[in-house]
Amino acid sequence: MEAKLKELKERLIEINNLKSAVGVLFWDQATYMPPGGADARARQMSTLEKLAHEKFIDPAIGKLLEELRPYEKSLSFDSYEAALIRITRREYERAVKISPSFQAELVAHGSKCYDVWSKARSENNFSKVQPYLEKMLDLSVKLANFFPGYEHIADPLIDFNDYGMKTSMIRSLFKELREELVPIVQKITSQKAADDSCLHKSFPEEKQLTFGIDVIKRLGYDFKRGRQDKTHHPFTIDFSIGDVRITTRIKENDLNDALFSTIHEAGHAMYEQGISTDFEGTPLGTGTSSGVHESQSRLWENIVGRSRGFWKFFYPRLQEIFPDQLKSVPLDTFYRAINKVQRSLIRTDSDEVTYNLHVMIRFDLELQLLEGKLSVSDLPEAWRERYKSDLGVKSPDDKDGVMQDVHWYSDHIGGVFQCYTLGNIMCSQFYEAALKAHPEIPSEIEKGKFDTLHNWLKENIYQHGSKYTASELIKRVTGKELTIEPYIRYLKNKYGELYSL
Ligand code: ZN
Repeated sequence: MEAKLKELKERLIEINNLKSAVGVLFWDQATYMPPGGADARARQMSTLEKLAHEKFIDPAIGKLLEELRPYEKSLSFDSYEAALIRITRREYERAVKISPSFQAELVAHGSKCYDVWSKARSENNFSKVQPYLEKMLDLSVKLANFFPGYEHIADPLIDFNDYGMKTSMIRSLFKELREELVPIVQKITSQKAADDSCLHKSFPEEKQLTFGIDVIKRLGYDFKRGRQDKTHHPFTIDFSIGDVRITTRIKENDLNDALFSTIHEAGHAMYEQGISTDFEGTPLGTGTSSGVHESQSRLWENIVGRSRGFWKFFYPRLQEIFPDQLKSVPLDTFYRAINKVQRSLIRTDSDEVTYNLHVMIRFDLELQLLEGKLSVSDLPEAWRERYKSDLGVKSPDDKDGVMQDVHWYSDHIGGVFQCYTLGNIMCSQFYEAALKAHPEIPSEIEKGKFDTLHNWLKENIYQHGSKYTASELIKRVTGKELTIEPYIRYLKNKYGELYSL
């Protein structure tokens, strides 16, 4: 049996080598490739992806997994070997259900639709992309139907990113959260808005970069196993556990943007850097779900990076780097500025409190689309309506309305937005567990020390990669099912102090 497991592992590593090569090509395209390389690069990536996919759906892998079934049963659930067989089988069974010609059609349409979307968006012309989005909806329904027997048509799509979560679970979790959030948002926005003008002075790019790098080095991002470059949209990408890269973008007149997106991406990257090296190159060697991944980026970005204690340590340093801009700005003003809550149009610019309302709008609308209760032609209006009723803002155009996020236009419709809110909920639950084990963490953060928290995360979350599903992991780490209570406590505590709630 060990020989069969060895063979399975060797095959998986070979497939992972191809996928990592695609990753390097993608990273290069996003960072340094001249525009002239675009067509050839698309071909190169698609050839490698096709090879990787063919190798994975090879019936020989299915046969190995079948032969390994009794061996898997003889092992403990927690063992590396059992997890490798279990998770590989899950991925394999999913991959073989989707026909290769459909997969190719979806990828090709995604890249075409993305192209049209970027033009349509800059021209603020939804009708240009509408037929492409209609086809995307069609393909998304077809994709879900490769997995018959679902409770809700979005369930298989949610499974791709947040395995094991169902529409019904997310709906009730979101409903509960919404009931708590709406009164908090109302109370905060009825008060005087925080003054964040101190963040919108001129902050030279190089200095912002240097400061961001100093911050994430202290948090624990390992530059010997990573690097940071500039891209249009920040992202994290890994080619191996020893090479996990991040990107950032800098706006001279917005100190928020680079700083918090750098911490956010470093959070994703530390998760990948912390996975057990035994898992390298296998389906276990990556974060377990999009929701858990977001919980790790948001824990560092929001719970740590937007806390008062964090800035007790870092603010004097930031003032030293930007004396003209910040010397006369007190810590308290700065702290309020980085935690300003407001009703806004753009999800990615929104604050911790209103953020989830943006996600819920998208989640509900994509369910209606998939259920056939909403047509793509009625989507822009439905979007405007929801922004008016939920956030009290009116989008002046579709560019910053229904066309603001790339997801539906490049990926598919369904199952792609819930992870952001799941991440917000999970990170508070994880952080409470960390504080229970180490009540000294907040006072260490005030001294610029992050290793207790970082080590706790490595030990309890990072090292396990995909060995446990999100719900298994949450239960193991916190002793409870996923619950919104810690998140609501966190928001009420923090914003109760900033505003009168
Ligand atoms: Zn993220």
